[in-house]
Amino acid sequence: MKIICIGRNYTDHIAELQNERPDEPVIFLKPDSAVLLKKQPFFIPEFSNDVHYEVELLVRINKIGKHIQKKFAHKYYDEIGLGIDFTARDLQTKLKDKGLPWEKAKGFDGSAVIGEKWIEKSHFKDLNDIGFELEKNGKLVQQGRSSHMLWKIDEIIEYISQYFTLKIGDVIFTGTPAGVGPVAINDQLSGFIEDQQIFSIQVK
Ligand code: ZN
Repeated sequence: MKIICIGRNYTDHIAELQNERPDEPVIFLKPDSAVLLKKQPFFIPEFSNDVHYEVELLVRINKIGKHIQKKFAHKYYDEIGLGIDFTARDLQTKLKDKGLPWEKAKGFDGSAVIGEKWIEKSHFKDLNDIGFELEKNGKLVQQGRSSHMLWKIDEIIEYISQYFTLKIGDVIFTGTPAGVGPVAINDQLSGFIEDQQIFSIQVK
């Protein structure tokens, strides 16, 4: 499986990192080795002193496709999930300044948290208005709604599939809202879609 991530998909997060608003979605990939194994803690890698959490809605692809039109995109996924795109912000900033790819800062082992629980999309009244949250040590740190995405789920699928064939089991990280911040050893991070807890992980 592959993990495709969308960057800069919420205006409030673009503003907090002082990034430019993109004309097209920003895409990057994480390797399958980035997936944090079930029930395992997240270990802060030794090469970073500033690892940030980014909570994001996830989409899991259930049918192979390429050049998928937006109007058919809904046929390629059944479930919505939640995860964290862990980012070594210090390293990413260095790479960005040099115009280099972000992989080392975004694709390291454990950097992709994929919550165990997935919610059938039929559960939602409107996929373009799903609320989600991240708590750190029981305190709310990020809160988002899919209505605030610059590119909505079906538009993301249309865009990505122009470049990459989507395969069964691929996971799309749809971007993070504002409120990203650093993690420290012993932090507990819990993610929620509406009132349901989707994951809870320990930082080591
Ligand atoms: Zn992200």
